[in-house]
Amino acid sequence: MSDTDKKSPSNFIRDIIDSDLSSGKRAEVITRFPPEPNGYLHIGHAKSICLNFGLAKSYSGKCNLRFDDTNPAKEEQEYIDSIQNDVAWLGFDWGGEALYASDYFEDMYEWAKRLIKADLAYVDDLTAEEIRAYRGTLTTPGKESPYRTRSAQENLELFEKMKDGEFPDGAKTLRAKIDLTSGNLNMRDPVMYRIVRAVHPRQGDKWCIYPMYDWAHGLEDSIEGITHSICTLEFEDHRPLYDWFLNQLPELHHPRQIEFARLNINYTVMSKRMLMQLVKDKHVSGWDDPRMPSISGMKRRGYTPESIRDFCGRIGVAKVASTVDIALLEHCLREDLNKRALRRMAVLKPLKVVIDNYPEDQVEWFDGENNPEDPESGTRKIPFSRELWIEQDDFREEAPNKKYFRLAPGKEVRLKHAYYIKCVDYKKDESTGEILEVHCTYDPASRGGGTDDGRKVKGTSHWVSASHGVKSEVRLYSHLFSAETPGAATGNFLDDIDADSLEILTDALVEPALAEEAAFAGVQFLRQGYFCVDPDSTKDRPVFNRTVTLRDTWAKVEKQG
Ligand code: ATP
Ligand code: MG
Repeated sequence: MSDTDKKSPSNFIRDIIDSDLSSGKRAEVITRFPPEPNGYLHIGHAKSICLNFGLAKSYSGKCNLRFDDTNPAKEEQEYIDSIQNDVAWLGFDWGGEALYASDYFEDMYEWAKRLIKADLAYVDDLTAEEIRAYRGTLTTPGKESPYRTRSAQENLELFEKMKDGEFPDGAKTLRAKIDLTSGNLNMRDPVMYRIVRAVHPRQGDKWCIYPMYDWAHGLEDSIEGITHSICTLEFEDHRPLYDWFLNQLPELHHPRQIEFARLNINYTVMSKRMLMQLVKDKHVSGWDDPRMPSISGMKRRGYTPESIRDFCGRIGVAKVASTVDIALLEHCLREDLNKRALRRMAVLKPLKVVIDNYPEDQVEWFDGENNPEDPESGTRKIPFSRELWIEQDDFREEAPNKKYFRLAPGKEVRLKHAYYIKCVDYKKDESTGEILEVHCTYDPASRGGGTDDGRKVKGTSHWVSASHGVKSEVRLYSHLFSAETPGAATGNFLDDIDADSLEILTDALVEPALAEEAAFAGVQFLRQGYFCVDPDSTKDRPVFNRTVTLRDTWAKVEKQG
């Protein structure tokens, strides 16, 4: 995976790792990507994936894929499956089986009992609401629960009964006994276990107590021998607790937690809760709707793993939160597609052209280069005949000005890979104003796209032979949100959904070579943009998604410096 390797400039995390390795504190690098299987992965997760797997690779270490499956109420097998697919699609290998936090529940339970015996944890009868009220605020200290002084023996018995299902959901919790006056609210006797009866995707109903994230996460890291536990900035205030728990179990391996800023991108939302709402309320067609920032949505939109990895490499990692311009993401996509996408012709809004002086039954097959950026890519055959489709936009009844180089009465244009044609007439439905067909003559001497007489023909149109064109559906996507920060104006991100973010064209015609492409294949429709084959395609009716237009606003910004 040379693209992640070539751009691995140093950053503060690499500095930490370098110093841990050179001081001998660590002998190797083991990282992990720990998604909770409660939704699909998005581009923000890709940043974490590229970082964790990328570090493991460049230090010849290892990166685990570990499901943080400690909250069965929201977790499902569907998400476990999709996450594995997405990480693999992005090009990363977790070396064997995925790991599951739930496989460690037994150990965690035993360690919790160790804390109880050491008078470092207690069973509390306060409700969740009471615990919150007792905890105090940043300016007022917390208040001790009346149950805080239970004996270790009593706590052990109660904890076992919690596990055995003798209390209803929410009736009791196990809490760490730390410090209710701590300036860090996370240290004010945090909950370690709660009672929840829910069917766990892997454990079924074996457990009715579930560990809280702060208690579980460090133990998961420790069991797996993680050396550097990389997480996002909101966990910075949890690090003292991460360390406290592991310090109470001194024989356990103690990883180092490092925080970095999460990825934000404008014109999109990136919290699983919001993405879930878009799906559940049917604002999009599903998690893989091509407008979603989910990995599966981006794949369906036509993003390549290479372009996403390139993007993640370019944004780097920092300690300070910031928002990345979506134009950069699209720039990375265009750069990659420009190198690999086959060039094809497709007419999205067709207008019939009849070439009056071209023999009725004749068909010529022209060779068209597959990709001028890639000489190895060869050519394909394009059929040409007397009746063709061109883009409605490529004809006007009257040329609006001297800079108009498309077709109009008396004007000549080049048909890409074929001939010059000159407009001699057109037919119009006088009642609707609709142009019905355009009549042209062609110049046989211009075969292949040029003549010897020095004649200048500036405009080039794409076209599709009428009798060979394959009728297709084309879905034109733009950003799902019309505001840079969805919800900034009204407080509700749904208010900024762009109702026109999907336009479906049902009369498009594409050259025959396009009908042979496999699902997800990326192509460039000449002059129109990059498109990919949607999995909704059938043999008779291909469906194409517009991945991105050709115009690169980021490249302009970069040039201006
Ligand atoms: P969300 O905020 O979308 O619900 P999450 O953090 O709850 O995400 P997890 O499944 O816990 O989702 O995330 C797995 C890993 O991905 C975590 O280590 C998390 O820090 C990281 N991650 C999630 N969102 C981002 C982001 N926007 N940028 C970078 N890393 C992220
Ligand atoms: Mg999380």
